[in-house]
Amino acid sequence: MPLSFAPLMARFKASESTEAGARARALRAEGHHVVDFSIGEPDFPVPANVKEAIKQALDGDDTHYTNTGGTLELIDAVRAKLLRENGLEYGRDQIIIGSGAKSVMYHAFACTVGEGDEVIVPVPYWISYPNQVRIAGGTPVFVECGADGGFQLDVAAIEAAITPRTRWLVLNSPNNPTGAMLSDATLAELAEMLARHPHVLIMSDEIYEHLRYGGAVHRSIATLGEGIKARTLVVNGVSKSYAMTGLRIGYGAGPAELVKAMVKLQTQTTSCASSLGQAGAVAALNASHDDVAARRAVMAQRRDYLAQRLAGIPGLSVRAPEGSMYFFCDCRGLLGKTTPQGARLESDLDFVRYLLDQYKLVVIQGSAYGCPGFFRISFATSQENLEEGSARLRDACAALG
Ligand code: PMP
Repeated sequence: MPLSFAPLMARFKASESTEAGARARALRAEGHHVVDFSIGEPDFPVPANVKEAIKQALDGDDTHYTNTGGTLELIDAVRAKLLRENGLEYGRDQIIIGSGAKSVMYHAFACTVGEGDEVIVPVPYWISYPNQVRIAGGTPVFVECGADGGFQLDVAAIEAAITPRTRWLVLNSPNNPTGAMLSDATLAELAEMLARHPHVLIMSDEIYEHLRYGGAVHRSIATLGEGIKARTLVVNGVSKSYAMTGLRIGYGAGPAELVKAMVKLQTQTTSCASSLGQAGAVAALNASHDDVAARRAVMAQRRDYLAQRLAGIPGLSVRAPEGSMYFFCDCRGLLGKTTPQGARLESDLDFVRYLLDQYKLVVIQGSAYGCPGFFRISFATSQENLEEGSARLRDACAALG
């Protein structure tokens, strides 16, 4: 008897970036020399002080359930971080610790979004936003914020998409996949527009905060006045800034009522985030930030190198990202061309498959992020891989007729 599944399983797709990683591993297992430009996590080890804190926590038998919403030590470390780095003051009852930022966002949607409710998701988007909204039973409403505007948000188009059923507007700066950051002008415009629509909550995903280049400044929308702060959930975590992806610690900061509901939900879902991960996150957030700065410098070098390598490739249009760890490349100039194997490239997915099959280079199609005609390259990989991968990309483009 084939298994049947609940209706919600038909509402969403598995993460395409996770699948790309799996394809890379499968090809490698077959003995191919694969270059993986799909990786969504820093390739550094966790900082030494974090390792030490986790070892100590283990030796001290700190392996039991914690408070559902997080340990007081970590909640206070998050509060101190938000005050120090973002100029945002929160009480303990306004912070929740979850099993990664992904889990924090899902719990927030699940608490607030019901059948028929809408969540505005600017396009291109991180794959999980619309899928999490669908799992929660709501409807993602997409607003195009395209390459022609440098991937800045189109505030008028967002306002036009707001209805009485809108529960959330999702913001992500620095952005995955585009690398764009919200400018001060766009933030001010957003705050002014949102003041006219007080029923809309704001989910501000700031997970790439520390990965920014060329002097770009990160500012949270929650700093634009108490009115905005009172309906914003700032979401962040230690995955990207401290290379702690597998330790699964994220956090949210927002209205106490919302945090209380999310904690209530966590009592029935995860119970709490990992005790060892939380101990590591306290060490990460309370440390001096030399590690973060040193890693950002390495990422900046990689970004500059790749920008220079990609610039001259005919058919591609590429702008260097201000933040995150991705280039979002426009490959529309290559569509309609033919591969040496005789296949016509009709879409970004065709191009991505061609790179994978013929050049063993893994990138992710823009259509996975709602943006056909583009593809995403992650530069969270070694200099050697950047050299080899960019050479393969150049050869692949040159071979098209
Ligand atoms: N937000 C964005 C934009 C991301 O790219 C990711 C990781 N791919 C996350 C959130 C999730 O981070 P975490 O590991 O804390 O769940």
